[in-house]
Amino acid sequence: MKLPQRMIRFLSVCLFVILTVNFMAAQKPLTRADGDAVPNGMHTDSGQVAPPVLGPVGQAVVTGNGINYHGGPVMKGNPVNAYIVWYGNWNSTGSNTAATKSLIEHFLGTIGGSAIEKVNTTYGDNSGNVSGNVRFAGSTTNTSIANLSDSGVQSVVANALNSGALPRDSNGVYFVLTSSGVSETSGFCTQYCGWHTHATLGGVDIKYSFVGNPDRCPSGCEIQRTGPNSPATSVGGTDGMANVISHELEEAISDPDLNAWFDTSGQENADKCNFNFGATHTCNANGLCSAAGTSAAAKYNQTFGSNNWMLQQNWRNSGGGACVQHL
Ligand SMILES: [Zn+2]
Repeated sequence: MKLPQRMIRFLSVCLFVILTVNFMAAQKPLTRADGDAVPNGMHTDSGQVAPPVLGPVGQAVVTGNGINYHGGPVMKGNPVNAYIVWYGNWNSTGSNTAATKSLIEHFLGTIGGSAIEKVNTTYGDNSGNVSGNVRFAGSTTNTSIANLSDSGVQSVVANALNSGALPRDSNGVYFVLTSSGVSETSGFCTQYCGWHTHATLGGVDIKYSFVGNPDRCPSGCEIQRTGPNSPATSVGGTDGMANVISHELEEAISDPDLNAWFDTSGQENADKCNFNFGATHTCNANGLCSAAGTSAAAKYNQTFGSNNWMLQQNWRNSGGGACVQHL
């Protein structure tokens, strides 16, 4: 499938934005080493040089597959917990609806153990590997419709934790999902479709991600206007959001603190397969698409939870490395 160039560009700057966010935040815990800056040896307190930092030892994970290990942890939760803050007006029309909320929660509740998520099990750290299992662990609603800055996104997460609406979970990835009327002012729709980072909130290392409803800018952040789950023609926000969520979820798990897995260009695993979907099927092939998706002959490349999804591939950290839909 031929991809619009704009789309590739929009998401391909995702990691750059992450770095920018971190630098702008000017908090040391958020600053990552850029590129392959981690030395092979480091001085210990005794003044001796420690052995080189080796790659993960769990299972079959090795380095040398086009993406490099920088010593930090991966998320090894079995499962990892996915949380959502629904921000904005999700009781509206188009894709800003309760149906979208339900479908995205179903998506996060069934992606664990799926073919695409298992690709992430090729990543590990020195104490183990990513499990490939994910659980939808809860959501809360923030009905503010004010535009958000990067720090505003962090505040939305912090407020959800401080109020007790969501638990403070170091094994969690918190998604702030905004309705299409909301702008993320650092560049949603013009610089990126989503991003992830982390921060210490209340003494816990919290991994979080922003993903906006791409019906705000379908030409930039959606692979197709009508997706396999579209409720109506040209209402592709839910499917578009699922694609970006899968991208950020894979990265948050394999590089949660921005110091584990990325390549010499600073690209994390999903960045290396940005809007690269591989082989696709056409809706009607298995009867699991919506009526609108079937009518529009929408494309899909993953099936789980009794739904079809159109999700970009992920970088396989084995066998020399490649963008794949499954191991
Ligand atoms: Zn990315």
